[in-house]
Amino acid sequence: VPGTVNTQEGVVVKAPNVPGLDGFRLSAALESELKLPAILENDANAAAVGEAWQGVARGRHSIVCVTLGTGVGGGIILEDRLWRGADGSAGEIGHMAVDPFAGVPCTCGSRGCLEVYASARAIVRMTREAEPRYPDSTLHQTDELTAEAIYLAGMKGDELALEVFRRMGIYLGTGLASLINILNPEMVVLGGGVANGWELFAKHMLQQVMERAFPLPAARVEIVRAERGDDAGLLGAARLAFDS
Ligand SMILES: [Zn+2]
Repeated sequence: VPGTVNTQEGVVVKAPNVPGLDGFRLSAALESELKLPAILENDANAAAVGEAWQGVARGRHSIVCVTLGTGVGGGIILEDRLWRGADGSAGEIGHMAVDPFAGVPCTCGSRGCLEVYASARAIVRMTREAEPRYPDSTLHQTDELTAEAIYLAGMKGDELALEVFRRMGIYLGTGLASLINILNPEMVVLGGGVANGWELFAKHMLQQVMERAFPLPAARVEIVRAERGDDAGLLGAARLAFDS
């Protein structure tokens, strides 16, 4: 489930993008419909477990997984254990503040969160905001602006698209540098649709990491793209079910 879950009770605590699920006893509902045991997990946590089990992070013990989709999700595995925190709400990497001053409001109630600069929605919003400064951009003619259309324009050298992905990379790298300093992970895995924009943002992201993170953990960490795509969450949920 994309949101905070109580894994013990099988209850969805808060799912900002699927509000109809708030407070719902999803495990019990599934068990009674399917006549099978069910477990509940946050989608980005499950994706982290999936990438560690069957994906790019196979054999690693401490990883951070960041899902760059409609929003920005996170999953943290430390010494082979999914880090859920005291209440199961840990790993909300998308809601780490990276801009406390001019911070754009976030659906979580805070502002300046990584999610408002590095998600698909953010890419579209930042493009709209910067549009007036780029009268020659081909994106002016695009009616239904999507993160993918902006990426494709950037690959053809559109200055507006390149600027948006540059900004996105700077914010993402700033957030990752903090995570690298705090957790000293072996690997950071970037998944979700927006990770497909890698060619446009990676350079700027890595530059921030090199400038901001301590030399020792920065030299150690590998920052890579996820391997399992949308299957990562399914594989992770299966693995967690086997383990339970
Ligand atoms: Zn937020």
